[in-house]
Amino acid sequence: MRRPIALAVVVPFLLLGEPADTAKSQVSGIDAAVATAAADEAKIEEAIRFLEAQQLVKAREALRDAKSLRADFACGLIYVFSSRDLRGAKNAFRRCGAHLPSLNNLALVETRLKQNNAAVDTWKTALSQLPQNGKWPKEISQNICRLVHLWQNGACPLSPGGQKKLLDLYGSLPVQARGAYDPHVGWLYMPFQSGGKTPWIIPEKYIGGGEGEYVRRVGEDRLCMYCDGRGTVKCPNKQCNRGRVPAGKAMSVAGTDLASGTSFGFVKPVFAACPVCGGAGKVPCPYCWNGIEKDLLTEKEAAALRGEQSARSHQQGGQQQVIPGPAGVPAR
Ligand SMILES: [Zn+2]
Ligand SMILES: [Zn+2]
Repeated sequence: MRRPIALAVVVPFLLLGEPADTAKSQVSGIDAAVATAAADEAKIEEAIRFLEAQQLVKAREALRDAKSLRADFACGLIYVFSSRDLRGAKNAFRRCGAHLPSLNNLALVETRLKQNNAAVDTWKTALSQLPQNGKWPKEISQNICRLVHLWQNGACPLSPGGQKKLLDLYGSLPVQARGAYDPHVGWLYMPFQSGGKTPWIIPEKYIGGGEGEYVRRVGEDRLCMYCDGRGTVKCPNKQCNRGRVPAGKAMSVAGTDLASGTSFGFVKPVFAACPVCGGAGKVPCPYCWNGIEKDLLTEKEAAALRGEQSARSHQQGGQQQVIPGPAGVPAR
């Protein structure tokens, strides 16, 4: 006789239970998100402490399991500016989803990875996030104009479809935004939020805002797109293979025929140091100075470049350029 009573008690509880559970799970979901965000803030602080101690690997590891938007954003910046791990940066900014500054930063990482078509698509997505008649962030219009400029100069190749999309994007920029383009400003990363107490989340000195002669502004990337900031490019001499060029053939003596007393051997090609690169296999990049695009140098850097150039021309002035003699050619 007890079973029906038990059912009568249980059934209303089950019927009422569902909405109560949903509300409860929503509350616990919010609680969990708040707890995650708080835990991630502690991870961000930890990452900054590792950055201060110049322990980059540990700084990245501190944020590895973080799940909040702010932590992923901070992680992306650390990857770009501190450890230059572009694939890591791409993943981190992608985790930030439709967050407009993250989309801009993702597009910049994609151009660095030579994925220019993807970058155009990413900026297109970013701009679809803008409210109607919303103001274009100055960073995005600068970056789109810069991509057009570099594409025209051959530094950022695009597929025909990508070119069309880029020109459409450029065409949709307000006239004053196009007019504000400055060819002497590099790629501009965007802060997590404009204004605010900590717009970049991590200290500005770790995103190009530190003291030193290479610094101009926070979040600016001035590295050369032609050599990717290495400062050197492959030797332009077509005959040059890792700094060596063919220099005829030579007889290699393998031994002496005891009966006749004559030497025997075989003919082998001989190489000499390349006269263009002096054997290095690479030459200074013509578009940059120490990896920084020539258009983007500070006054101080431009002066240093002029000094180097005049010293070089002075050196070469009186004497002929010395071409290293063939290496390894047997004396005859
Ligand atoms: Zn360069
Ligand atoms: Zn060479």
